[in-house]
Amino acid sequence: MGLGLSKILQGLQNKLAGTRPADEPAKDLQSLLSTEQKRCAEHYGSAPGHCELCAQDTIFVRHGEWNREQYRCVRCGSIPRWRALYRVLEAQFSQWRDLTMHESSPGGRASDVLQQQCRAYEASHYFPNQPLGTSYRGFRNENLEQLTLADASVDLFISQDVMEHILRPSLALQEIARVLKPGGAHVFTIPWKPHLATFSRVTPTANGIAHHAEAEYHGNPIDKKGSLVITDWGNDTVEIMDAMSGMQTDIVSIERADLGIEGERLEVFVSRKH
Ligand SMILES: [Zn+2]
Repeated sequence: MGLGLSKILQGLQNKLAGTRPADEPAKDLQSLLSTEQKRCAEHYGSAPGHCELCAQDTIFVRHGEWNREQYRCVRCGSIPRWRALYRVLEAQFSQWRDLTMHESSPGGRASDVLQQQCRAYEASHYFPNQPLGTSYRGFRNENLEQLTLADASVDLFISQDVMEHILRPSLALQEIARVLKPGGAHVFTIPWKPHLATFSRVTPTANGIAHHAEAEYHGNPIDKKGSLVITDWGNDTVEIMDAMSGMQTDIVSIERADLGIEGERLEVFVSRKH
């Protein structure tokens, strides 16, 4: 990183004085950029701002045309959809650090921050060949369609780009509603398609699955093959999900260039259990 001694001392002084070492002018921040990041910044663009996921002033650099996944904080590598989810927790659930939180299929900087800062955070992945409800590779093993979590045991249920991969979303949403406490919420992101109606690319059959479109996969932190996309959630997502879950969903749109939250499909969905 090559921080000079004077800078380190200045950082220490700032810490002692109780201020963030965050008031560095943007030209100093430029020194954070690697050669590759500089190349991307020149080609796709960049902007200074404050990243809430590393709690520092930073530069956001675009690494491609698709902001949602490619507009990264040079300090922590975070992307806009993770920053948007964190912003909604801060804005709508300011006590989240003291609440009971369960995250399904965590991955990425926002999950790390939730785990570090929430006192009662638990994460699960689904390992089909392991017993449900047990711990495996550091995670609780849970199938969203048949959770082993107790009724009304969770304040905040988090899923980040997970709901498009569930074979029977109706079961999963009913399960999430069951394990939430009254007043609790499912806070989630999905790469939805607001210009289209919801489309089931894959449906379950008696002895497997049926494809209704070309198979599409997204990255999966626990499986190199990736996760098959089941549902293209569309402009009727709220109506469909609310009918399935019995909860009430709001779509929260955030545009905060200063926080590196800009681009398409950064909406955060908040389904509340009453
Ligand atoms: Zn950051």
